[in-house]
Amino acid sequence: QTVYLNGEFLPLHQAQVSVLDRGFIFGDGAYEIIPVYSRHAFRLQQHLQRFAASLTALRLSNPYSNAQWAALVQTLIARQDEADQSIYLHVTRGVAPRDHAFPAGVSPTVFMMSNPLITPSAAQISQGVSCISASDIRWDRCDIKAIALLANVLLRQQAVDAGAVETILFRDDILTEGAASNIFAVRNGVILAPPKDQHMLPGITYDLVLELAAQHSVPVEIGYFASSVIRSADELWITSSTKEVLAIVTLDGQPIANGQPGPLFKRMLGWYQDYKQQVMRH
Ligand code: PLP
Repeated sequence: QTVYLNGEFLPLHQAQVSVLDRGFIFGDGAYEIIPVYSRHAFRLQQHLQRFAASLTALRLSNPYSNAQWAALVQTLIARQDEADQSIYLHVTRGVAPRDHAFPAGVSPTVFMMSNPLITPSAAQISQGVSCISASDIRWDRCDIKAIALLANVLLRQQAVDAGAVETILFRDDILTEGAASNIFAVRNGVILAPPKDQHMLPGITYDLVLELAAQHSVPVEIGYFASSVIRSADELWITSSTKEVLAIVTLDGQPIANGQPGPLFKRMLGWYQDYKQQVMRH
């Protein structure tokens, strides 16, 4: 497997980083994940823009322009066997003696890898998935795609332990997002979504779902929704770059509505797949 590290493409087993890297010591860095369909990086510019925003928020200088990133990503994609991939970008503050304060004159560590894209199963798409809920124990800058993911790791494992696909998070009883995904609800034909504030990651898929809703004149209400609203919704959806759009049919073991993927979900999934086909043809 070919990866990229600090200016060169090399085999994974040769890619090595110092134990003093601030990513290893402090989780001091940002990352991005970009799905690739048939060697086409999906919504690449949006992902690169969000990555740039994460780096700015962490006061890390972006080592490359979007055009340079795009060229590197294309090279990485071309060097893999599989046509469908998941590209991982990662920048840390670099290698320095351990001290919380920013080191002077240190260059960032830049890493990229590609993994085979793991998409939902046919059964997950047609039958929906189960989720659990938990209180959102993360910090107040969840809008940054930071590599420090300890809370997300613990919350996601709670889902795995419960045999569920994701943990839906509520901060003071208000829906924020999933441990590694965004959440939408449907009530009386209206899509309900939390606002892109500091308590959730502005998902690339979240934006696409809202774009598709607007294109098809489906009303959307952006707001703060209590867990009682979410539990009694007509439909619940989960979105992420790798999950795309899935229906949540049970939450904490209780069915959502009749426990089946809803009609608006089926329409949205169709619009999403059509959009994917369109961009891949270009
Ligand atoms: N929220 C969190 C915490 C995430 O880690 C992710 C990433 O998958 C998302 C939301 C969804 O974002 P995207 O649609 O850009 O993949």
